[in-house]
Amino acid sequence: MRGHVEEFLKEKDIPYRSGVSAATLSTFRIGGVCDVATPVCLQQLMELTTYCAYHDHAYRIIGRGSNLLFGDDRIEALLIKTDLLDAAEIGAGYALVQCGCSLPRLARKVAALGYADLAFAVGIPGSVGGAVYMNAGALGKEFSSLVTWVEVYDPLRREIRTYFNKELNYSYRNSRFQSGNEVVLRASLRLELITKKDEILDVMRLNIKKRASSQPLEMPSVGSAFRRPAPDIAIGKLLDDLGLKGLRRGGAAISEKHAGFIVNLGGATARDVKELTVAVQKIVEEKTGIHLIPEFQEIT
Ligand SMILES: Cc1cc2nc3c(=O)[nH]c(=O)nc-3n(C[C@H](O)[C@H](O)[C@H](O)COP(=O)(O)OP(=O)(O)OC[C@H]3O[C@@H](n4cnc5c(N)ncnc54)[C@H](O)[C@@H]3O)c2cc1C
Repeated sequence: MRGHVEEFLKEKDIPYRSGVSAATLSTFRIGGVCDVATPVCLQQLMELTTYCAYHDHAYRIIGRGSNLLFGDDRIEALLIKTDLLDAAEIGAGYALVQCGCSLPRLARKVAALGYADLAFAVGIPGSVGGAVYMNAGALGKEFSSLVTWVEVYDPLRREIRTYFNKELNYSYRNSRFQSGNEVVLRASLRLELITKKDEILDVMRLNIKKRASSQPLEMPSVGSAFRRPAPDIAIGKLLDDLGLKGLRRGGAAISEKHAGFIVNLGGATARDVKELTVAVQKIVEEKTGIHLIPEFQEIT
């Protein structure tokens, strides 16, 4: 990290660590050495991103790291992790949540108050910021269906803005944030599915059980490695039908349990994952004409 950035972090009392293994920050358990800052409030997050933007120091916001592939070499960008920004206010029909709030924790919190709206997300190991950015989804539901508005920060213009759902350009695993540099600060979610608490907890338990039996949760991964090419094509079935389970490059392999997952068998590198991704894309394109797009985000 450049000296002046470190000075700034010290001056603003923003917790940071230098020379950390990025592998510890991603559910893939892959990545070179990095520097990571963990703001304790939204003000620190805004000040730090503006400082970096104005001093031309690369940075990336990260949530729970459950959709990230870090590069093998030193990560030049300062990673700004949102874990500690996890306040959630839940009222009648809404939840107002900070970007770092964990989705499974939020799903349980709203369930305890009798709302089933987030039951689909209980097995998605990400943050609210990551879910807003990725439009995370499961069981036929997408995060976008809950979002009323999102508060964001533009570090270059030093501006806080609010976007309503329609302005967020949501589509399958996509949002306006994937083509810009706005930082998601908070989201307001609509809660309307009022159900008995026990019933919601049962649905969530079943959801988690199904995932554990069908997905390789015991191995490091980032969930589904590829975006679904069309609404009616399940990526796991497509790759399974093509016989790709077990296909391997170095320490990375197509899971034997769920062909949609690339798993780290131990010691996988980003290079292994990328080689495997390209190999899968090539086979699928040759055999079906379909071009697959990775779902994970790369940070090098
Ligand atoms: C076992 C497993 C199962 C999974 N199952 C699902 C599933 O069912 N459905 C699904 O959709 N996904 C699934 N995922 C993928 C992942 O959990 C989601 O994409 C999740 O939304 C990512 O959130 P995150 O906080 O981990 O984001 P990260 O991986 O940390 O970041 C993802 C992207 O979001 C950006 N970002 C994060 N926070 C902010 C912010 N505050 N402001 C601006 N940008 C931000 C990052 O820069 C990055 O580009 C799964 C992953 C795993 C490991």
